[in-house]
Amino acid sequence: MSVFSSGAYDDHEAVLFFHDKPSGLKAIIAVHDTTLGPSLGGTRMWPYESDAEALEDVLRLSQGMTYKSALAGLKLGGGKSVIIGNSRNDKSEALFEAFGRAVNSLNGQYIAAEDVGIGVADLEIARRETAHISGIREGNVGNPSPATAWGVFNGLKAAVKYRLGTEDLAGLKVAVQGLGQVGFGLCTHLKEAGAKLIVTDIHEQSIHRAVQELGATAVGTEEIIHQDVDVFSPCALGAVLNDETIPALKAKVVAGAANNQLAEARHGLELRHRNILYAPDYAINAGGIIIISHEGPNFDKEATMSEVAQIHDTVMKIFMRADKEKQSTAKIADLMALERIENEKKAKADKAA
Ligand code: NAD
Repeated sequence: MSVFSSGAYDDHEAVLFFHDKPSGLKAIIAVHDTTLGPSLGGTRMWPYESDAEALEDVLRLSQGMTYKSALAGLKLGGGKSVIIGNSRNDKSEALFEAFGRAVNSLNGQYIAAEDVGIGVADLEIARRETAHISGIREGNVGNPSPATAWGVFNGLKAAVKYRLGTEDLAGLKVAVQGLGQVGFGLCTHLKEAGAKLIVTDIHEQSIHRAVQELGATAVGTEEIIHQDVDVFSPCALGAVLNDETIPALKAKVVAGAANNQLAEARHGLELRHRNILYAPDYAINAGGIIIISHEGPNFDKEATMSEVAQIHDTVMKIFMRADKEKQSTAKIADLMALERIENEKKAKADKAA
């Protein structure tokens, strides 16, 4: 297993491996970049088939957090951690206390939060050993998903305005894939704005709720891509924009919450060539990290939700620049994130000189 020559290694500042024999903890913490502030990112618990797979995941995810926070204008860097294990069978107090000590050893350069397989209760245990945990009860913020949904709604509005020339969502047809915490919240905002909803989920119950409460039209999971709609909103899976799905899309706009929507970077350009406007995933789904960044005793929900709504302006800037430079919107999002980090590095160097 290689680290420095791994494809996902991107000049990470630190990659730390932790093993606590008594509790069985095996964890990796990756700190990608702390130029803009301490690195914040979720802890994922997953039964990885190999150490290499766990390493690849943590490296890729921590880099993603750097870009997401930078683009959202936050004073945070990017980091992530993974605990190798099965979240159903392998959890114990000792394991999360050991994880807390691991986080604490970085002296605040990494702040842990929830991710797949990890809940608030787990983080509360880790909190006994370290202050560097976010997304717990005492932080006042609560579940970040409503903020994510609010950000996606505002980003979607910007995309509709840019591509379809209207700010009015009344009568607009939106196909939503996935009716979970974010997808359902987004549907609620869309319904209030008068949009027509076409929805799918793998859970019958979620579909039923959307049909009953929001008057949505339900379609099968395989059919959602093919719908004759204005907007396609992926709120479930990654890699949903690929060689098979892109030619099938009838929507003119893709704007949804799911992470890593492009199967490969080239699919961003493919969408551009087909005149489908893609709102880059980590730009439009940053509402959750924005609200978490304000966690603490002075948390002001109203002010924070206004900040989340500014995702509208961020994606608008991306769309305009992508057209000017004839690039994919995803590539422009990366460039804008990197430019902010480079500017901060330069400012620090100038100050030190
Ligand atoms: P969730 O688990 O609550 O919801 C996901 C939904 O997708 C579930 O209802 C699930 O049944 C459904 N689903 C799974 N496979 C499907 C398929 N093949 N077809 C249709 N539906 C399917 O998750 P969430 O918190 O709502 O997050 C949704 C997406 O947004 C994820 O990709 C997540 O990584 C991303 N995201 C979430 C947040 C947040 O604050 N929750 C923040 C940023 C990004």
